[in-house]
Amino acid sequence: MTTIELPSRAPAPPPLAPAPAKPSVVGLTRARLAEALSEAGVPERQLKMRAAQLNHWLHNRGAASFDAMTNVSKDLRGALAERFTLARPEIVSEQISVDGTRKWLLRLPAQGPRSRPAEIETVYIPEEGRGTLCVSSQVGCTLTCSFCHTGTQTLVRNLTAAEIVGQLVLARDRLGDWSGRAAPEGAVVPGDGGRFVTNIVFMGMGEPLYNLDAVRDAVEVMADGEGLGVGRRKITVSTSGVVPEMRRLGEETGAQLAISLHAVRDELRDVLVPINRKYPIAELLEACRTYPGASNARRITFEYVMLKGVNDSPAEARELVRLLKGIPAKINLIPFNPWPASPYECSDWETIEKFSEIVFRAGYASPVRTPRGRDISAACGQLKSETQRMRAKERLALAAE
Ligand code: SAH
Ligand code: SF4
Repeated sequence: MTTIELPSRAPAPPPLAPAPAKPSVVGLTRARLAEALSEAGVPERQLKMRAAQLNHWLHNRGAASFDAMTNVSKDLRGALAERFTLARPEIVSEQISVDGTRKWLLRLPAQGPRSRPAEIETVYIPEEGRGTLCVSSQVGCTLTCSFCHTGTQTLVRNLTAAEIVGQLVLARDRLGDWSGRAAPEGAVVPGDGGRFVTNIVFMGMGEPLYNLDAVRDAVEVMADGEGLGVGRRKITVSTSGVVPEMRRLGEETGAQLAISLHAVRDELRDVLVPINRKYPIAELLEACRTYPGASNARRITFEYVMLKGVNDSPAEARELVRLLKGIPAKINLIPFNPWPASPYECSDWETIEKFSEIVFRAGYASPVRTPRGRDISAACGQLKSETQRMRAKERLALAAE
C-alpha cells in the first residue's frame, strides 16, 4: 500500500473555523448554477444558457479555473471569480492499495460559524471494464448497525449535494478522468478506453435515505449527459431500510436500489440493523415489491454480510431465497470486513461457499463480493474518519441552529 500525503495538505484547522468567505460552484445543480449566475449579474433571459455552459465547463471538462472557460466573456469570468471559487473537497490523504483501490480522506469546510470542518472517505475500485466510486452521503451515520465501523462514529452531519458530487469531481481530477487527460503513471484504471469512473455506489459513510434531498440533487448532477454523464442505471443507492423514503428515491432519482438485508429473521435483524425495529423485514420487502422501476432488467440488490455463526447457516440461505420470491432481485454476499475491536468474525470460506451454492441453485448468479482494498481499510463498513469527537456543548449549539 502507498500513502500519499499531498503537498496541499493544510495544517489542522482551529476547533471552530469560520465559514469560507467564497462558496464553490463545483457540484451545483443547473438551478443552483443559475442562481449563482444571477448573483454575478447575468440577466434572466440568459440564465438557462449560461448555466448549461457552466455545467459543461465544471462537470464535463473539469475546469480548474474560470479563465479556462474560453467561451464565457472576460467580464463574466471576472464577476464569477469575485464571488465564487472552483474549490473541490480538500484531500487530507490518498491511500493506494496493492490491488489498485484508492481511498481518499477528504476535509469539508465548516457550514456556518458554529460548525467545524468535517472529514469523510471516498473509495475508487477499478475492475476489468468498469471503475466504481463509492461515495459518502453523511459524515458518520446516525444508525448503529453492530457490524459497521461507520456506525460507531459520533460526529454526524448531512453532506450537501455539491459535497457529494465533489467526491466524483475530485476522483476524476486525481485519476485524470476528464477528456484530453490521462491517468497518472502506475494508476490502475479499466483498460478498455472508456471512462475511469463508470459507476457510482452510495455505499460509503452514511444512510443516503436520511439525506434524500441532497442525494436526489447529487444524482441529477452526476447523471447529466452534458456534464458528469454517469447514467442513472449506473448509480446505486444503498439503504439499511428507511421504508418511507424508498418510493421517493425511485420516483425522483431513477437510481438502482440496494438493500442491506443481512438477516432473514426480525429478532436477528433488530440487532444487526437496528432500524429494523421501526421497519421490519415484511414492510421492507413490501416496499421493494412496489419500488418504482424495478424489473428483471433492473433488479434490486440485496446485500448480505457473512457473519460467522450469526447469520450464515444453510437454513438461513433457504429462507433468504424464500423471502425474495417474486422480487426482481440480485444477491450480494459480502464477507465481513473486520475493524479494530469489531464484535464479529467473517464466516469460513466453506460456509460462504455452501450458502452461495444454495442461493446459486435458486437462480441467483455470482453472488460473493471480493473484498477490495483490505490493506488500506477501504472495504465496505470499514470507513470511519478521524473527526469524530465533538463536545456535548458544541453538539447542542449545532442542534439549536
Ligand atoms: N448506510 C447504507 C450505505 C452504506 S453501508 C447501508 O447501510 O446500506 C454499505 C454496505 O456495507 C451495507 O450493505 C453495509 O451493511 C455493509 N457493511 C457495513 N459494515 C460492513 C462490514 N464491516 N463488512 C462488510 N460489509 C459491511
Ligand atoms: Fe449506517 Fe449503513 Fe453503517 Fe448501518 S451499515 S451504520 S446504516 S453506514
